[in-house]
Amino acid sequence: MRLILLGPPGAGKGTQAQRLVQKHGIVQLSTGEMLRAAVAAQTPVGMQAKDIMASGALVPDEIVIGIISDRLDQPDAAKGFILDGFPRTVPQAEALDELLKKKQIGLDAVVELRVNESALLQRVESRVAEMRARGEDVRIDDTPEVLAKRLASYRSQTEPLIHYYSERRKLLTVDGMMTIEEVTREINRILAAIGAVEARAARKADAAKRTAKKSKLAAKSKAKKGVGKAAGKADTGKAAKAASGKSAKKAAKRAGAAKKPAKASRKAGKTPSKAKKSTRKAAAGSRARAIGKSRKAAKKVTKRRAKR
Ligand code: ADP
Repeated sequence: MRLILLGPPGAGKGTQAQRLVQKHGIVQLSTGEMLRAAVAAQTPVGMQAKDIMASGALVPDEIVIGIISDRLDQPDAAKGFILDGFPRTVPQAEALDELLKKKQIGLDAVVELRVNESALLQRVESRVAEMRARGEDVRIDDTPEVLAKRLASYRSQTEPLIHYYSERRKLLTVDGMMTIEEVTREINRILAAIGAVEARAARKADAAKRTAKKSKLAAKSKAKKGVGKAAGKADTGKAAKAASGKSAKKAAKRAGAAKKPAKASRKAGKTPSKAKKSTRKAAAGSRARAIGKSRKAAKKVTKRRAKR
């Protein structure tokens, strides 16, 4: 499974990603986490990203695209992944499309977690309080001021991706205002639904293939029967019509062969009229002969009379 989680800071992308990882055995690829690790390790990328992240702005596209490209090449990503926090701009989305195309892998869905902006500050404040309570390091960008900046970056640079993926028929929107449990259930439900839709489409295509095969066979046998019919009743048109595709051509050929005897039989049908003609001829002939006979007989009588 290959997914993108889309949503503003505090929407719950990280939380849901972890749940999906557990359920589907795939990896979570969070650019935020990777960048934070780079900052902590003081790598060249980390040095470049540190101040930008602290301000709530976005790190340059080339940097995150490079990180993601390398990460996708690692063997654990082969089974599937959830992209959390990437892409965050349209150029990043386009670069991802290219990367996936090159690697010949497809994206299953983009899950958008939709939340009310008014709830976000509250959420981030609670997260900060919980982390402090657990004694964990708090993110330096999790302050009301920086959060406002992160939200502004989201609205102007990331929100256009909703349209981008919706146009490409990849977008699935989930109400992120429900409880964590409910959101997880809803994500799993829609993911199963696209699976089901794909399965249904495959079943439909199969059924269509079987129907086409059946009608081909039926047309073939009908065409065969049609040839028999054609020989007897000269019903070639129907036989050819009943058949379809290749079998129709074959049937038409066979029916054509049967047309000759049919024509012949029609010609034979004309014989009675010919016979009538000849009967008439014969009758006329015999009448003529009869007249001739009587003429001869009359001549004989006149000859005899003249002799007397
Ligand atoms: P959140 O989603 O809560 O804003 P993240 O952990 O995803 O937090 O990101 C933290 C910071 O890391 C961002 O504010 C930004 O500076 C940087 N960052 C993370 N992902 C990207 C990205 N894809 N493009 C640019 N900057 C990013």
